[in-house]
Amino acid sequence: GVERSKMVEVRNVVKYFGRLKALDDVSFDVHDGEKVVIIGPSGSGKSTLLRSINKLEAIDGGRIVVDGIDLYSQQTDINKVREEVGMVFQSFNLFPHKTVLENITLAQLIVRKRSKKEAVEKAMMLLGKVGLAEKAAAYPGKLSGGQQQRVAIARSLAMDPKVMLFDEPTSALDPEMIGEVLDVMKSLAREGMTMVVVTHEMGFAREVADRVIFMDYGKIVEEGTPEHFFTNPSHERTKLFLSQIL
Ligand code: ADP
Ligand code: MG
Repeated sequence: GVERSKMVEVRNVVKYFGRLKALDDVSFDVHDGEKVVIIGPSGSGKSTLLRSINKLEAIDGGRIVVDGIDLYSQQTDINKVREEVGMVFQSFNLFPHKTVLENITLAQLIVRKRSKKEAVEKAMMLLGKVGLAEKAAAYPGKLSGGQQQRVAIARSLAMDPKVMLFDEPTSALDPEMIGEVLDVMKSLAREGMTMVVVTHEMGFAREVADRVIFMDYGKIVEEGTPEHFFTNPSHERTKLFLSQIL
């Protein structure tokens, strides 16, 4: 196949919370355009790992390189990381007192230093893409959870990230809204975005993931294609977990 460049390199990462080892020697790569889905029980370190890739945690060992930028080297500017890595959380975290449009233009103006005109154009283009152009002037509180999450995705995309991280993006949603958010993520995947997604949506994993990683107790227990995971997982812990969620 075509040789693809490494977009994310996670090497021997260790993270402690007090005496708890939340990440225990975690290593994996994500190539340009690749979609990786991370699964695992509650408390296994999935969120801590994603947060580390977005420099929201201080790691205690190892290194993380995104698009050639060593995230935890002294010289790395946090704004540079914010430009490279987009993150979408379970709780959409929109600014409640700003309109949808303002939510999507704010970081573009401050971090990206775009003109108002550029930022608004970009925001409107992205709102169109997530199917919410008519909500530009609304406040987040007036939107459904699914709509708010789509705004949060548009806000992240506005920074033109090289990689998008999703931490259980549909877990806080009513069931009827999960599909609309997954559809936006699937179209992003089709456009070639590099994505790391923590989710319990196994249909999404089957359909979109190039690779699935199973974590338990802060470690990567097993990784492979969705076919491998859903037909023939190797480890007892993986089998047990899958039997509980499928
Ligand atoms: P997951 O996302 O897989 O449910 P987390 O990464 O949130 O797991 O948590 C991994 C472990 O680290 C859990 O035992 C959790 O309680 C602990 N943990 C996470 N964040 C903190 C924190 N800020 N302070 C102390 N312990 C934490
Ligand atoms: Mg989590």
